[in-house]
Amino acid sequence: MKLLLATNNKHKVNELKEMLNSSNVEVFSLADLNIKLDVVEDGSTFTENALKKATEIYKYLNDDSYTVIADDSGLSVDALNGAPGIYSARYSGGNDSDNNKKLLSELKDVPEGKRNAHFTCVIALVNKDITKTFEGICEGTIAFNETGDNKFGYDPVFYYPPKGLTFGEMEHEEKNKVSHRAMALKKLKEFLENN
Ligand code: IMP
Repeated sequence: MKLLLATNNKHKVNELKEMLNSSNVEVFSLADLNIKLDVVEDGSTFTENALKKATEIYKYLNDDSYTVIADDSGLSVDALNGAPGIYSARYSGGNDSDNNKKLLSELKDVPEGKRNAHFTCVIALVNKDITKTFEGICEGTIAFNETGDNKFGYDPVFYYPPKGLTFGEMEHEEKNKVSHRAMALKKLKEFLENN
């Protein structure tokens, strides 16, 4: 099976490739197929955005031997009424480090115990027969400062209680077992195996 990952984000491509490694699929990124199409993420939910990305790339590719999967993901913080949510990537208008600084500053007066947050990932799958979405959620809290060597997005500030570490401090393989993307992907894999 030929699977095209409709994302330009290298971190996501690597995570998804690592996670899909064992299954019976050949995984391509947009860069592998030299596709340069930027889909505008103007949906109001993770699901709408993921579906839009997968559908537009599938139409653009115009080759029904491929299955396209796209994901949309983000961080929702309870004390901020779910922000940054679907705006996670562009929260501060700057880069990942700016986003983390803005988040920590917004939460500077929020005490421990009230800093709950979760990551959501929705994976949309589109091929000639199927259009379907899979959702994964990972619960945690927002730390008081950035830690760890993994600098992807909010990893340095997302504290994962079962391990007592931030995602920034966890090994890739450990994160890939428990993350929102892993949970969504697990559902996708089960679906692929059963169909
Ligand atoms: P997307 O590319 O529209 O899905 O934007 C997702 C944004 O959410 C990323 O740019 C990150 O800021 C954040 N995000 C999603 N998943 C993760 C993760 O696993 N770790 C850290 N940040 C994440």
